[in-house]
Amino acid sequence: MSARTSVVIVGGGIAGLTAAWELTGAGDGPDASTPRIELLEASERLGGVLASEQFAGRVIDLGPDGFLARRPEAVTLARELGLEDRLEPIAASGASIWLKGALEPLPAGLVLGVPTSAKALKAMRGLSRSSRWSVWRDEHVPRKLKITHDVSIGSILRAKLGSELTYQLIEPMVGGIQAGRVDNLSAATVFPALFEAAQRGGSLMKALRPAGGGPSTASAERVLGPLFMSLTSGVGSLASELERQLRERGVVIRTSTAATALRPSPSGSYPFEVDTADTSTGASAVILATPAPVAGRLTSNLHEHMGQLSTIDSAGAAMITFVFNANDTELPASGTGVLIPLGTEWNDDIMMTTALTFLDRKWHHLQRDGEILLRAHVGRIDDRRSEVLGDEALIERVRREITTVLGRAGTPLFARVQRWPQGLPQYYVGHQDLVNQARQGLAPFAIRLAGSAYDGVGIPASIGSGRRAAREVRELLNAGN
Ligand SMILES: Cc1cc2nc3c(=O)[nH]c(=O)nc-3n(C[C@H](O)[C@H](O)[C@H](O)COP(=O)(O)OP(=O)(O)OC[C@H]3O[C@@H](n4cnc5c(N)ncnc54)[C@H](O)[C@@H]3O)c2cc1C
Repeated sequence: MSARTSVVIVGGGIAGLTAAWELTGAGDGPDASTPRIELLEASERLGGVLASEQFAGRVIDLGPDGFLARRPEAVTLARELGLEDRLEPIAASGASIWLKGALEPLPAGLVLGVPTSAKALKAMRGLSRSSRWSVWRDEHVPRKLKITHDVSIGSILRAKLGSELTYQLIEPMVGGIQAGRVDNLSAATVFPALFEAAQRGGSLMKALRPAGGGPSTASAERVLGPLFMSLTSGVGSLASELERQLRERGVVIRTSTAATALRPSPSGSYPFEVDTADTSTGASAVILATPAPVAGRLTSNLHEHMGQLSTIDSAGAAMITFVFNANDTELPASGTGVLIPLGTEWNDDIMMTTALTFLDRKWHHLQRDGEILLRAHVGRIDDRRSEVLGDEALIERVRREITTVLGRAGTPLFARVQRWPQGLPQYYVGHQDLVNQARQGLAPFAIRLAGSAYDGVGIPASIGSGRRAAREVRELLNAGN
């Protein structure tokens, strides 16, 4: 009798959990062809950077607090899990930027921070004349730029729109998504629309405008649905619900269990063995949904290109969540948060805070009378200062920075720090080639890569990546039977 098909998934973040969900039939559930699935997670809990917790009388997210809803992946998964009635659209729009010591509302029409008209920037007081000239020039006599292969986002922006707009307005938004620097991040993979616009030539700003001028925010919401969504039980509940239902489906889930090696086993019942500190599991196929350097280490014996995965850097970030008394704290009149450009001077130093999110303006279910729930983001690929501060010192430092930005912020009623030391993979120039080579190296083996290091950072992209890996594995297994 041949052994039952067995798939080992390494990594229990949203990508690995979704891979297991897809392999067990997703919304339809398992059937006779469903393989035995074992999911290994190194830490003591599942979810990776998705985590929700009780804090000051409500469930808050310690990692991502929402997801893009105009991509289908996260919303579809929530529906398949039966969480549809907990989906919550974002409650407000707009944000401010801290420019030259003052808060300014972000102009309308930005695409990942890039302005799409000179007119929209008119009201911004903190911009120099040379930036105003740069945007006028881009609209009327755009600078030429010859691009034949991947380049950094920063090199396109600087050439087309000048340094001030690049670092003071655009980097806080596009760089903030990965806690990275625009001068390192790949235009082709992080901002394909910018890359294609730059390749086509002409005005960058005009090329990024939505076709037909684009609907207003309100009518876009009516036609396309809300841009962002969350779950009233926390984004982390996507992971906890997946865990519950996967266990019901018979998936073997082992937390506090790191995969230590992945070995071909030509003479065994299965083509691979996945080792942990004290076990070895035979696998017909393996999905590696760990950070890229771990996948690189586990597969470096299989192909020379695999070691390159270890060069994919990750930025650490910390989230400091505060509850303030609404009577002694002042927020800007509208908007869901504040962006702070890197290198912003503060008290003979440089600010650590890169953004503030007004959580209870974003999500209705977090609102409480008389309180303000606010989250500060610190940490970038080249700013690790927060890592050497203890929690108390970090809270105090960030509280003082918040007071500068908001003008008034009282003593916090509650505060907590969450650190994500390796949370955000960096897609440097040439990232796509590196990933393609790694995938080609693995093509002869029934081993697939999934997760935020490969197919885009963010929950929808990571879910899509997990599903894709699972579908490929299923096809390989079907072809082998
Ligand atoms: C602070 C922060 C805020 C974010 N905010 C948003 C947001 O608002 N919206 C959004 O869409 N996205 C956001 N993101 C991005 C998004 O959360 C990630 O892209 C996504 O969750 C990554 O999922 P993943 O499964 O690929 O990786 P991870 O969550 O990193 O999971 C990988 C798992 O592999 C495990 N592992 C590592 N080594 C081993 C081993 N040897 N054996 C077994 N297991 C191992 C790890 O412990 C981990 O659990 C944010 C990310 C961070 C860090």
